Amino acid sequence: MHYVVCVKQVPDTTEVKIDPKTNTLIREGVPSIMNPYDVHAVEAAIQLKEKYGGKVTVLSMGPPLAKEVLKKAIGLGADEAVLISDRAFAGADSLATSYALTKAIEKINEQEKIDLIICGKQAIDGDTAQVGPGIASRLNISQLTYVMEIKEISDNSISVFRKVKGGQELSKTKLPALLTVITDINDVRYSSLDNLIKAARFDYKTWTKDNLDADIEHLGLKGSATMVRNIFAPPQREKGEIIPGGEGNGEKAIATLLDKLIPLDIIPN
Ligand SMILES: Cc1cc2nc3c(=O)[nH]c(=O)nc-3n(C[C@H](O)[C@H](O)[C@H](O)COP(=O)(O)OP(=O)(O)OC[C@H]3O[C@@H](n4cnc5c(N)ncnc54)[C@H](O)[C@@H]3O)c2cc1C
Repeated sequence: MHYVVCVKQVPDTTEVKIDPKTNTLIREGVPSIMNPYDVHAVEAAIQLKEKYGGKVTVLSMGPPLAKEVLKKAIGLGADEAVLISDRAFAGADSLATSYALTKAIEKINEQEKIDLIICGKQAIDGDTAQVGPGIASRLNISQLTYVMEIKEISDNSISVFRKVKGGQELSKTKLPALLTVITDINDVRYSSLDNLIKAARFDYKTWTKDNLDADIEHLGLKGSATMVRNIFAPPQREKGEIIPGGEGNGEKAIATLLDKLIPLDIIPN
């Protein structure tokens, strides 16, 4: 089995603050991390390797520094790592991102046939959850999204539990397929010392646009169907109001609350 995991380097959004004067994101000093969903995707692939054998390749698109997330994945136990990095990829929306990643996946597949591609459900910076399904559509393979448990892989097929509204759904499809995973899928283990040493010495592959059989018109800003025109901080929430209650005053407090909520259409009259 050959598992390919797509990992994205993202700013740690829990650390990103908004400058109230300029209404822009303060990115300075904000650490870059592996997208949290992708850490679970790597762990899922490693657990599959431990159960069924095979090899885990991690793939990322980003600037040269994105190598750090590949290093982390090797530290967790991945076997191979490919970074696709080129100015031609910059400014990509989810359409162009999934195109570039698909081209890299096709090249990896030529070198060693891929059985399963695993992505995170979404990236915490872009937040679209479109890249995984975009790759599956371009490759014309099945996609199973919101995967919370991998039940089994057998006879060139995979069955998983997907989180759906109000419960879970058991789905089965043939391989090769693409999964997007949520954090329920596993608990991520710490890196072993052996893997950390391996990561420190690892020889990372970097491919540019020239290494891919890609149409430049579909890459980066040129290949993007959408364009971000403006970015601004959401308006600050208004200060809350405390309705005085207290002993003996409960009914009056509820009546005051209802008088305020009904005109807002929050609760039916
Ligand atoms: C408002 C906004 C403005 C943006 N502006 C710019 C810009 O100016 N310049 C620019 O370069 N980008 C920009 N981007 C980023 C870019 O559009 C997205 O990062 C990219 O298209 C991926 O979409 P996503 O982050 O929503 O990923 P999702 O679809 O949410 O990611 C799902 C999964 O796909 C995989 N994945 C996604 N991206 C990668 C990757 N790069 N490498 C490997 N795996 C990946 C991961 O497994 C991830 O968990 C912007 C995004 C937004 C939302």
